[in-house]
Amino acid sequence: MNTLQFELHDQIGAHNWTHLQVRRVVSAAIADLLENKHLYQSVTVSGEPIDQRIETTRFRSEVARTPRAMEHMFNEMKTSMKALVAADLSFVEWRLGTYIRPFRQQLLQAGERMSALAIEQAPTVTVLCDRCDQIWPHNSGYDGWQSNMREWLLPGSGQEVEQLFLIPYQCQKCRGSPVVFMIMRRGAKMPIVGRSIFERVKIPDYLRNVPGSEHYSHAAIAFNSNHVLAGLFYLRTFIEQYWRTILGCEDLRMTGEDLANAYKERLPDDWPTGRVGKSLGRVYDELSEKLHAADASAE
Ligand SMILES: [Zn+2]
Repeated sequence: MNTLQFELHDQIGAHNWTHLQVRRVVSAAIADLLENKHLYQSVTVSGEPIDQRIETTRFRSEVARTPRAMEHMFNEMKTSMKALVAADLSFVEWRLGTYIRPFRQQLLQAGERMSALAIEQAPTVTVLCDRCDQIWPHNSGYDGWQSNMREWLLPGSGQEVEQLFLIPYQCQKCRGSPVVFMIMRRGAKMPIVGRSIFERVKIPDYLRNVPGSEHYSHAAIAFNSNHVLAGLFYLRTFIEQYWRTILGCEDLRMTGEDLANAYKERLPDDWPTGRVGKSLGRVYDELSEKLHAADASAE
């Protein structure tokens, strides 16, 4: 049971609580977007968890009323709180601050308070730093710049608010120049529509010194961008490059099949079937089959 309690007359308190919950879910959604999604992928902020909390919130009233009147008023309060959640997520402009320069509700002009929601700071996110070549926390904002971040309120085609945010993120380890993310917002939906440094995928340590491993990174990016066939092609190229280097083979006329056979011959006879060498040939065959069939459903 939710322990939150509101006095029934304390409408302002209940509404402030509601706005606070929206700030939290928006912040969490931005972190999810930047940490787990890729260019042109999106997250949609859900008001569902807040609505559920509102539903289980206990209201109290000091004023004596009949149980029926009380229930009616409690329900009205819940309805108005849920309407606020829906409005904050879809129709209200978000004014976003950063870790370097937070934006608080008090900074809104009196006239803006109903039409804008201050989200104190875009969340700290853990993403790959190109310079450190490590996944590391990045704070929003950049202390090397005078300005904070940029945002535009777009004219929009429907009722939902459309905004564009340009948010710099600085690695907390090297504190170098930032990576800047461009996020579009249409109501509760937020796609990443741009980034200043092209996304790279960290190559796992066990592949780091393997020849051709940069193709692994390309494969992951292609897959993340929904270009599955391109991803399969990169994976196949990775295997071919690996074989060529191991075999010292410079003959470009050698096909993948030739390379696979030459590689298998190198393996000791008692090499277990399931081990990398033999299964690599099988993986190569599977990738080739999918490519020839242009089967983009492969995972
Ligand atoms: Zn760094």
